[in-house]
Amino acid sequence: MSTLFGPHFIDAHGHASDHLGCLHGRVFVADGEHVHLPGAFAVPGLCDSHLHLMGMGWAIDQVDLMGCDSVAEVRQRITQWIQDHPTASVIRGRSWNHTRFEAQRLPCASDLAGLTDKPIYLTRQDGHACWVNQRLLDQSGVNAATEDPFGGLIMRNDTGSATGIFLDAAMPLVAQHMPDPTEQQVRRWLDHALDRCARAGLTAVHDVDVPLQSFYELERLDALGQLPLRVYCYLRDEPESWRILEERGFRWQGSGGRLNLMGIKFFADGALGSHGAAMLCAYCNDPGRGLVLLNDEELLERITRCQELGFQSATHAIGDAANRSTIQAIIGAQQGDHRLRHRIEHAQILALDDFELLARSGAIASMQPVHGTSDMPWAKAWIGEERLRGAYAWRRMQTHGVPMAFGSDAPVEPVCPLAGLQAAWSAEVANGRIPEPWLTAHCLDFAQALAGFTSGAAYAVHREHEFGRLQPGYAADLTLLSGDPRASERGWFGVEVVGTVLDGEQV
Ligand SMILES: [Zn+2]
Repeated sequence: MSTLFGPHFIDAHGHASDHLGCLHGRVFVADGEHVHLPGAFAVPGLCDSHLHLMGMGWAIDQVDLMGCDSVAEVRQRITQWIQDHPTASVIRGRSWNHTRFEAQRLPCASDLAGLTDKPIYLTRQDGHACWVNQRLLDQSGVNAATEDPFGGLIMRNDTGSATGIFLDAAMPLVAQHMPDPTEQQVRRWLDHALDRCARAGLTAVHDVDVPLQSFYELERLDALGQLPLRVYCYLRDEPESWRILEERGFRWQGSGGRLNLMGIKFFADGALGSHGAAMLCAYCNDPGRGLVLLNDEELLERITRCQELGFQSATHAIGDAANRSTIQAIIGAQQGDHRLRHRIEHAQILALDDFELLARSGAIASMQPVHGTSDMPWAKAWIGEERLRGAYAWRRMQTHGVPMAFGSDAPVEPVCPLAGLQAAWSAEVANGRIPEPWLTAHCLDFAQALAGFTSGAAYAVHREHEFGRLQPGYAADLTLLSGDPRASERGWFGVEVVGTVLDGEQV
């Protein structure tokens, strides 16, 4: 038995204290040996409810194109990377975003001409589009006669030839000609990603769209006692994943007790930034209505299968059409049985009528507050003021009683729960840009925002009686901070993570 001292402890449910009793790793009302923790303020261990561990780690072997403001800057960074990595056989890059380029034009293969003879594959920031060079186009054999696969789009020039941009389900046409990651690479990437998460102050993550290669490595790390935080997995939709889920079952736990198997991830549509989000009406700046990756029957069939086998589905849905289809599929699959708590990942744009429907379905809105602040500069021009009333709508979800869990979608956004907390609370960003009124209208109060990263995140993985609150019986998981964000002028940006505690032990 011990008593944790040092910070001022607080959770999203009004529990505040100057000390915390701890017995066998659980919060306990007791007094005992005094352990002094660093920091001045502590909250229940923060949980990122949607990220991609392998993708985060993979970033270390790719050209980082985040923040590039022009094609010239992209070329410059690739040139530098090639100089630094002369033996690399292929060039992978990540996080370009053409909304930052002049005229917001989608780039093409010729923009990468003359850099190298090696294949170049560059993933867009949202992961829903890739930009490749002529060498990889030639290798892939894609030509004017190649048809767009269902749920995918090959961008073409006037003669019908591929320009070098592939959206969603069309991406594998070129991706399959890039080498697969090796076991050693996956190992190194996961080590890196887990370390980043722990240092960001996270004590748990929901790893979404997990490839099996990554799952097996996480299983190995858990067995060795080397997971620095709790990991809840939603596997990639592949035949082998279904087999693993059926074999091990819902909430299967690794031998180390920190790895958990929860369900499977689907994609209903693409992403907003590449006009791939499936919308009920056309975009304001594009006559298209986005991409449907799974139609209504396919969604219903898959979620019903999850329901029957007894594990959670986690469906990516960004556009209002994709969200409506997903909510209806969940309701159809559940037949009134809400116990599994199916999830909608992003739940980014909803028609105003659909909030009520979502609330009735009992499904979880797994949302990323930083997407709101990141999309703020262009969202109004793309989808218009009216649709923004139901977009990034944390407060509307709250008012309707929809359970929410918050995350970052790293590596799409940096893994930084404090930035997410600030975005949900005030829509402010670190660089001090003035928040748009349409976004501040969606803001939550301090405790509601905190709940999204603590008790709400725990509810989404059926652990609301185990972590996310500072009450007797709960896991003594804590994020330790340098100060109280409510007392700082810069809010969460004015404080720092100084450590984490997992099961009563400092990590
Ligand atoms: Zn994601």
